[in-house]
Amino acid sequence: MTSSATRILSSVFGYDTFRDSQQEIIDHLIEGGHSLVLMPTGGGKSLCYQIPALVREGTGLVVSPLIALMQDQVNALRQVGVRAACLNSSLPLDEIRRVEGQLLRGELDLVYLAPERLLQDSTLEFLDRCRLSLVAIDEAHCISRWGHDFRPEYLQLDILRDRWPELPVLACTATADERTRREIVTKLRLGEGRVFVTGFDRPNIRYRVTPKINEKRQLLDFIRGEHENDAGIVYCLSRKRTEQVAKFLVDNGLKAMPYHAGLSAGVRHRHQDRFLNEDGLIIVATIAFGMGIDKPDVRFVAHLDLPKSIEAYYQETGRAGRDGLAANAWMAYGMQDVILHTRLAEESDADEIYKRSERQKLDTMLGYCETVSCRRQLLLEYFGESLPEPCGNCDTCLEPVDTFDGTEAAQKLLSCVARTGQRFGALYIIDVLRGSESERIGRFGHDLLSTYGIGTEFDVWQWRSIIRQMVTRGLLAVDLEGYGGLRLTPAARPVLQGEGKLLLRQETAAMARAKKPKKKKATVAILFEGGAEADGEANQALFESLRELRRTTAAEQEVPPYVIFHDKTLAAMALHRPTDEAEFLQISGVGQAKLERYGERFLAVIRESS
Ligand code: ADP
Ligand code: ZN
Repeated sequence: MTSSATRILSSVFGYDTFRDSQQEIIDHLIEGGHSLVLMPTGGGKSLCYQIPALVREGTGLVVSPLIALMQDQVNALRQVGVRAACLNSSLPLDEIRRVEGQLLRGELDLVYLAPERLLQDSTLEFLDRCRLSLVAIDEAHCISRWGHDFRPEYLQLDILRDRWPELPVLACTATADERTRREIVTKLRLGEGRVFVTGFDRPNIRYRVTPKINEKRQLLDFIRGEHENDAGIVYCLSRKRTEQVAKFLVDNGLKAMPYHAGLSAGVRHRHQDRFLNEDGLIIVATIAFGMGIDKPDVRFVAHLDLPKSIEAYYQETGRAGRDGLAANAWMAYGMQDVILHTRLAEESDADEIYKRSERQKLDTMLGYCETVSCRRQLLLEYFGESLPEPCGNCDTCLEPVDTFDGTEAAQKLLSCVARTGQRFGALYIIDVLRGSESERIGRFGHDLLSTYGIGTEFDVWQWRSIIRQMVTRGLLAVDLEGYGGLRLTPAARPVLQGEGKLLLRQETAAMARAKKPKKKKATVAILFEGGAEADGEANQALFESLRELRRTTAAEQEVPPYVIFHDKTLAAMALHRPTDEAEFLQISGVGQAKLERYGERFLAVIRESS
């Protein structure tokens, strides 16, 4: 059995070895066992049910939440010669009939359905008449009420267990905190199955967080400096902002488009389509964009607003670098984010328990932003994993943060907040601390306070950073009813009384500005590092010709270029320069079907260039 799985891996998908626990998961499913599979985005979940569906007798059902992306997956499968189709409401009736006919005759290896379609009585009754091999439930965290992608229909998927008790179920997700994990197992009744957790690390993604100064400009610098002509996703919190930011990028000569739930379905579809099909486009989106996007060559994900939890952040940033090549997760954040999120949580009509859970998630997210140690260690710890050494590929590892003993600064700040009556916002408090001669301070008589002018050793920027850190550490709270007034929390007392030292992150405006990204090598150049130095240019030129051929081939078939071959596969061709079919088949990402379809044309281009 293992040997047939391995054979399929290489002959159909063109890969020589399984990753992590793929093999174990596949064997378990082939033997008919249930499982929950937790793997990071890009980890290779799809093969875990696609290969068993090819080995087991009958058709595999794949439940997937997004109709728009099913076609993409089906296209990719057809390219490698797998008999796949989808059934959804966007298809014309005769197409649905055709697919149903194929299903009845056992001519399909895999069929993709949205949960609402699957759960219709007519669909279930129809499927009773078909021979099925397994059920795969993609994005299984959608079953969790606590999660950010909750889909009520997912809750009803447990009826599949009663209806077809003999069918093995594989649920998979990239979101995997303990609670979500338990919810999936309970609600889908996978109790007697196995849980497979693979490493959550995405070593090719570089995590960076920078304080906001002028975030649009900072974003522009980042993209120009490191991602000229790369595909990327920029996340914002509001619809309006996605439009403003997209316009700003376009005004500055970049190819960017907005995406949010307020745009018409047609516009959304067109923007997503272009993002998938063209090279080097930027999507500026609310979180409505991205679930199930399996474009492998997204080179960066930028956050202009703070995501509301680590899960959301990890999932969004996970959309970068699925192909395993270097990618960036970049975020700008500031005090406004903290206020906005706290307010959103307070204003929601959810119950108190839910709100508390939201607040905790936000706190953890803020802790991540302000951390002075390795960001990856912190992220992995959140998912219950540990990384013994700092990663060397996040900003705090690459440019260690300076810290300073902030106890005295904190005391000055806290006592100034107390003496002004715990109702003024950050900027006013800073004015008092720095001894500003503003008329307002005089009016309140705050120039007579003992804390007036005792904080001139820090500039406004530094004080803002200190205040932000005090808020994230829960020493100060922001009043949300009024104008963002600061007040002390019970946790502030020990600090005021001089108990314990407070280590703070040292940050100056000059430092934040100086962190201008350096120009770096194009991603493909890095791919060629294995080869001889002198060949670099020739390889690059061949790579570009192969890309051009891929572009025309993809256009002819109306599929995205990466469905034909990934960048990584083209780079391997450029590096190894296969001369015949046998050598071509050796390239990772080339299986039997792709050899037959494309071998000749691609080999011709490679030969021409030699
Ligand atoms: P996800 O876990 O996000 O669903 P995918 O299943 O889309 O990830 O896989 C991500 C990429 O990794 C795909 O391009 C896939 O073809 C590739 N991949 C998966 N398994 C292997 C493997 N064993 N060897 C090489 N590439 C693989
Ligand atoms: Zn690190």
